[in-house]
Amino acid sequence: MDSAQNHKLPSPIHIVTSSTCAEFTHLLQSLRQSTVVGLDAEWKPRRSSQPDSSPFPPVTLLQIACQFQAEKSDEGPKSEVFLVDLLGVPLGDVYQPIKEMFESENIIKLGFRFKQDLVFLSHTFSTQGCEPGFDLVAPFLDITNIYFRLKSQNSAKRCSKDTKSLATVCEELLGISLSKELQCSDWSSRPLSEEQIQYAAADAFYLLEIFSVFQQNIVNKGECAASVSVGDDDHCRMMQSILTDFGDKIVLKESDKVPKNTNKKVKQRKSINGNKKENVEVCTEWQGPAPWELSVGGDGFPKFLCDVMIEGLAKHLRCVGIDAALPSSKKPEPRELLNQAYKEKRVLLTRDVNLLRYQYLAENQVYKVKSLLKNDQLVEVIETFKLSISEDQLMSRCTKCNGSFIQKPLTIEEAVEASKGFQVIPSCLFDKNLEFWKCTTCHQLYWEGTQYRHAVDKFVSICKLKD
Ligand SMILES: [Zn+2]
Repeated sequence: MDSAQNHKLPSPIHIVTSSTCAEFTHLLQSLRQSTVVGLDAEWKPRRSSQPDSSPFPPVTLLQIACQFQAEKSDEGPKSEVFLVDLLGVPLGDVYQPIKEMFESENIIKLGFRFKQDLVFLSHTFSTQGCEPGFDLVAPFLDITNIYFRLKSQNSAKRCSKDTKSLATVCEELLGISLSKELQCSDWSSRPLSEEQIQYAAADAFYLLEIFSVFQQNIVNKGECAASVSVGDDDHCRMMQSILTDFGDKIVLKESDKVPKNTNKKVKQRKSINGNKKENVEVCTEWQGPAPWELSVGGDGFPKFLCDVMIEGLAKHLRCVGIDAALPSSKKPEPRELLNQAYKEKRVLLTRDVNLLRYQYLAENQVYKVKSLLKNDQLVEVIETFKLSISEDQLMSRCTKCNGSFIQKPLTIEEAVEASKGFQVIPSCLFDKNLEFWKCTTCHQLYWEGTQYRHAVDKFVSICKLKD
């Protein structure tokens, strides 16, 4: 398997940093020649909890992979990738060319769940004087639809319509592994690192590649009017035929251009109009599989990352023996959270519905907890993830740091020795012949005293371990 990050793309990458540079002229020229473009955008993510005047994150980079016919007709199509630095190029200079490309009947636009990008992009432009922003991308092909089309041809049973990340799609269709790590990098810092450049370009470029696989597939199957020979006319007819069968468009309505009120119940994937193409609302129901599941190469042990708002749930999960980490920083950015979840193969539990939008960074690794109270949250997580909790698992993990206990319990003498300097063991425990447990990570000592028994009783009751 090839790692896209370790290799340069086969297409040239042009970074457009101003409207006076040669690359800008080159971009305009390429847009005029293109028949197919792959689109992607990067932005600086923010938390909904942060007070800010702007409802959407500003898009800082627009990637456009252009494909056009070579001048000599015996060569195949050529492609080039443009990274348009929206922090450098005056938006007024690039607004019309982009808008024309979005709306041009002669250019097929490819994207991967591009509606979200378009909302942010439109907002970025319209707030800087480019009214009314962008409200139409047509003709448009969603790579997800192409993927499902290709998959359903190759397997007898209908493949599931689970959300797939672009990385998964690339891996399955092209055998190329796209690292997700850079998705979490800061896309507003300049200059972009070489890795960021390659990464950003790859996201747009491989849309063209996936489309090529699709075109080839159609030619092979003779599914459209064009036969196997792909001359200029045939090529046009094939494109027309693809558009007739698979063409779509993204239309932004006024309601799309205002932020969703997060206090309202989030629309659920299945409940609205049933039109999958239009429907890019985030799904709040857990779909799975979780990263620890054996079917996806996990070790079978559930692991969670609790967002800062639900630290109490983390402690509760630890009390019932479940591995529940907290974010590594106090005010984590969404991408940091997703990055941590991805690296540690955890499911991020959050109350912030906006984090679901970042699911594509770590597939099946975000769950929005619906319950408000800790005890209810615990039950919700146990039921949603079908966690098996047994009584001997209770209090088997350090509630302070999520660490595990040393295998063998300590005697009172050993415990007193171990506690010196940071923890006081009440002298009333000395004659009670108790067992002490030490956390391997933070060395906190726990013992099976009254508090312990109360806690066990409490969790036996919450988790309904006894009928
Ligand atoms: Zn500990």
